[in-house]
Amino acid sequence: MEAGIVGLPNVGKSTLFNALTAAGIASENYPFCTIEPNVGAVAVPDPRLETIQSYIATQKVIPAVLKLVDIAGIVRGASEGEGLGNQFLSHIRNVDAITHVVRCFEDPDITHVEGSVDPIRDIETIDTELMLADLQSVESQVVKAKKTARTGDKEAARKLEILAACEQRLAAGEPVRGLSYDDPGAAKALRELQLLTSKRVLYIANIDEDDLAGTGEHVTRVRERAAAEGGEVVAVCARLESELAELDSEDRAEMLQSVGLEEPALAVLARAIYKLLGYQSYFTAGEKEVRAWPVAIGATAPQAAGVIHTDFERGFIRAEVYALDDLVEHKSEKAIRDAGKLRVEGKEYRMRDGDICHFLFNV
Ligand code: GDP
Repeated sequence: MEAGIVGLPNVGKSTLFNALTAAGIASENYPFCTIEPNVGAVAVPDPRLETIQSYIATQKVIPAVLKLVDIAGIVRGASEGEGLGNQFLSHIRNVDAITHVVRCFEDPDITHVEGSVDPIRDIETIDTELMLADLQSVESQVVKAKKTARTGDKEAARKLEILAACEQRLAAGEPVRGLSYDDPGAAKALRELQLLTSKRVLYIANIDEDDLAGTGEHVTRVRERAAAEGGEVVAVCARLESELAELDSEDRAEMLQSVGLEEPALAVLARAIYKLLGYQSYFTAGEKEVRAWPVAIGATAPQAAGVIHTDFERGFIRAEVYALDDLVEHKSEKAIRDAGKLRVEGKEYRMRDGDICHFLFNV
C-alpha cells in the first residue's frame, strides 16, 4: 500500500516529502527508495514502541514504515497537456490514497502560480484535473467494455453500468469518491477502474510559521471543505518541519518547546497517512528488536505473519498474543504467561491494533 503526495507547484510538496522521508530511515533497507527518486519511506512514530521498550530490554526499536510517492506535474490544464501534461497519471494510478498539499501560508517571496493564496481554488484546480483525467479514462474504458459486452460477458455489462455512474458524477463536477456499492463484486469492479478521484484523500494544510495552532482563515476554509467531504486535514508548517527533521533529538525537543508543539506535526501527519491507507500496527518484541509492523485493518493472523515473511504466512501454525495493557499490568512476558493472559490464536484470528505477537510456523 502506498500514498501519493500531490499539490500545485510551490505549495511546499518537496519540502514536506523530503522532511517526511528524511526522518531517520536507512533507505537502503527499503529497496523501493533506491530504485525511484520520487519514492520514499516514511517512519510512523508510535509512542507505544517506547512503552514496550520500557518493559522489554532490546537492542533496537524499529517503527512501521509507509511508502510515499511524490507526484509532480499537476498544474491547471495538465490533463490537456499543460506543464508535464499527463505524465503524473502513471504515478498516481498505482497509489492507494492521495495526500493533497494545500498552501495556506502567506509569503510574498514565494510566488503562487495563481497569483494569490486561495486554498479552496487550488483544491478545485487539482480536483478538476483529476476529474478530467478520470473522464478520459472512463471514456476509453467504456469503449473496451462495450466490445467485451457484445460477446455476452456479464462482468462487462456490470462494468458498463458502473462506468456510466462514474461518468455521470464526473460530468457533474463531482469526484467518483462519493460513489459506493454495498455489493462486494461491484465495489471491487469500481476499484479496478483505478479512477484517480475514487482514491481517499487527506488534505495537508501548509500553514504559516506564526499560525502553528492552525487557526488562520485559510486553514479554516480547508477544514470546512474537508468536513463537508467527510475527509481529514492535518496542519503542518513545512518549513519548520524541515528544520526540525534535521536536528538531533535534544535540539529538536528544545525547538519544539520554544514553538509550543508537543511533537513534530510530521509525526501526526505520518500517523494520519497510515490510517488513510487502512493500516493498523502489531508489534514483535524481543531482545534483538522491538518492531511495529503494518497490517491492513481486518487482516488475519497468518496475513499479519506474512508481512514479516511470506514463509511465515504459508507455514503459519499459531500466534501467541498479548495486549500492551497486559504488559503494563504484568511488567514482563513471563508474568503475562504465568497469569494465563498469553492468548493462543489460530488461523481465523483477526488482528487487533496494538497486539504483541510471536508467530509459530513450519518452514
Ligand atoms: P513544491 O513546488 O510544492 O514542491 O514546493 P517546495 O517544497 O519546493 O516549496 C516552494 C517554496 O516555498 C520553497 O522556497 C520553500 O522553502 C517555501 N516553503 C515551503 N513551505 C513553506 C512554509 O511553510 N512557509 C514558508 N514561508 N515557505 C515555505
